[in-house]
Amino acid sequence: MIWPAALIFDVDGTLAETEQAHLQGFNLAFAAAGLDWRWSPEAYRALLTTTGGKERMARYVREQGGDPTAYPIADLHRAKTRLFTEIVAGGGLQPRAGIRAILAEARRDGIRLAVATTTSPENVAALCLALFGAPMETVFEVVAAGDMVAAKKPAPDVYLLALERLGLPASACLALEDSRNGVLAAKGAGLKVALSQSFFTRGEPTESPDLQAAEFSELLPLARLSAAVS
Ligand SMILES: [Mg+2]
Repeated sequence: MIWPAALIFDVDGTLAETEQAHLQGFNLAFAAAGLDWRWSPEAYRALLTTTGGKERMARYVREQGGDPTAYPIADLHRAKTRLFTEIVAGGGLQPRAGIRAILAEARRDGIRLAVATTTSPENVAALCLALFGAPMETVFEVVAAGDMVAAKKPAPDVYLLALERLGLPASACLALEDSRNGVLAAKGAGLKVALSQSFFTRGEPTESPDLQAAEFSELLPLARLSAAVS
């Protein structure tokens, strides 16, 4: 019996350093809507502790003393998603170190591949094309994403949905994450989790992942993972 039977990947910050492109998408969407909101990288680092783009915008409005219901948050988010997918399709993003090799080894060894993310399925699809030159459905057997669950990370819901669709117990799978919220979500679902912090999450509290690595390439070869986390 192979362990893990499946790897469940977070997307943003895990498959690639995508947050700069998300930040650009937000600021372009705000400008296009005639809003004077402009998020700096420092402001965005703080806002990232709130998962989900719509939730993040609502928090920003509240922090400015405003009422989120007075703004077209859903429209802004749709515009931002379109801009993000255009930025990603424009190229320049690479998978993080080790990601390509982990996917290849997993396929070779019969380890199943899934995604559990708070980002939208459209973003995952655009990223798969840009990073791997392949449609999302051919890269990941299961995609649990965005608004498919009501409660976003750090709630465990999106991981529980991925497990349900895989038809596997948590004990058979390993989650790969770059953030504190992600580790909390994976552990809340009963999963073992490997953490490699990304540009925007470096320095966060880590919440005791089962494995921590500077880069995901340190998880290779996958055949050694079982011993490493038990
Ligand atoms: Mg992440």
